[in-house]
Amino acid sequence: MSEVGARALTIGFVGLGKMGSPMARLLLAGGHRVRGFDLSDEALAHLADAGGTAVRTAGEAAAADVVVLMLPDSDVVTAVLHDEAVAAALAPGTVVVDMSSSEPTRTRDLAAELAERDIHLVDAPVSGGVRGAQAGTLTIMVGGDDETVDRVTGVLELLGKPVRAGGIGAGHAVKALNNLMSATHLWVTSEAMLAGQRFGLDPEVMLSVFNGSSGRSGSTDNKWPNFILPGGYDSGFGLRLMLKDMKIATALARAVGLEPVLGEEAVELWSRAAGDLDPGADHTEVARWIASTSQAPDRAEHERTQGETA
Ligand code: NAD
Repeated sequence: MSEVGARALTIGFVGLGKMGSPMARLLLAGGHRVRGFDLSDEALAHLADAGGTAVRTAGEAAAADVVVLMLPDSDVVTAVLHDEAVAAALAPGTVVVDMSSSEPTRTRDLAAELAERDIHLVDAPVSGGVRGAQAGTLTIMVGGDDETVDRVTGVLELLGKPVRAGGIGAGHAVKALNNLMSATHLWVTSEAMLAGQRFGLDPEVMLSVFNGSSGRSGSTDNKWPNFILPGGYDSGFGLRLMLKDMKIATALARAVGLEPVLGEEAVELWSRAAGDLDPGADHTEVARWIASTSQAPDRAEHERTQGETA
C-alpha cells in the first residue's frame, strides 16, 4: 500500500543541485514538507525560497519519514550515509531513496548494511534531464523489494514515471547501461552531423531525416536540436557525470564476464574530451570538442572521388 504517498510526509533531501533542486520543489508542490541539505549555500537558499526547510547538516535532513539522496556518485552517497549524525538520525523503518546515478554493487552493500538497523534502501535513478526534473516527467528506474518500493511510489510519482527494474541495485544498473548507450550514440551522432555539414548538408534537414529513420535516438531528437545546434551546450548534465556512468556500465559488463569492446572505446574517447574540457563542462560540449579535434578532410581526395562519380 502506498501509505507514504497518501499523507503529508517529512522528506529529507540531500543534494539540491541541478536535478535535486527542481525535484525538491515538486515534492513541496505535492504537499510534503522538505528538509533539505546541500554543501552549497545557494542551493539551500533556493529551497527556502520554494517553501522548504534548509538545514545545516545532513544529520538534520535525515530525521524524516523518507530520505531522498540526489548526490553525484556512490562515494558521496556512502560518505553521507556513514556520517555519524546521519546514522543517529535515521530511525528504524525509515526508507532511504538513492536517486543519484550510483554503482549497483555498492548500493547492494549499503542496503545490506542499513537493513541491519531496519532501515530500507531503494535505488531510483532517473532519466529525462533537468527539463524532466522541472516538469515532473522523469523516467525513474526503481530497484528494491516490493514492500519498500510500494511505500515510496506515491512520492516518486510526483517526480515522474516509476518503472520497477528489479531488486536492490537494478535501477542503478539499468541507469548506467542507458547512459553508456546514450554517450556512445551522442559521439557517433556528432561525427555524422559533422561529416554531413562538411559535405554541405543542412543540419536541420539531417536531424529531421534521422528522426524519421533508423538513426533516431535521444541524441538526434533531444540533445542535438535542443542543446548543440543552437550553440547553448546547456543541458545541465555534466560531462564528468556522464563519464562516471559509462565507467559504471563497463565495469558491470566486465563483472558479469563480458568484454564491452565498443563501450570501453567510448570511455576512452570521452576521457580524452574530459581531459581537455573544463571540469564543469556540460556533456553536450563533447560535440564541440569532436568538431574542434576532428581532422580536416582531404579536400583533394574528396574532389577526386566526386569527379569519378560525376
Ligand atoms: P549537481 O552537481 O548539479 O548536484 C549535486 C549536488 O550535490 C550539488 O549541489 C552538491 O553541492 C551536492 N553535494 C555534493 N556533496 C555533498 C554532500 N556531501 N552533502 C550534501 N550535498 C552534497 O549534479 P546533478 O546534475 O544534480 O546530478 C545529481 C545526480 O543525478 C548524479 O548522480 C547524476 O549523474 C544524476 N543525473 C543527472 C542528470 C542531469 O541531467 N543533470 C540526469 C540524470 C541523472
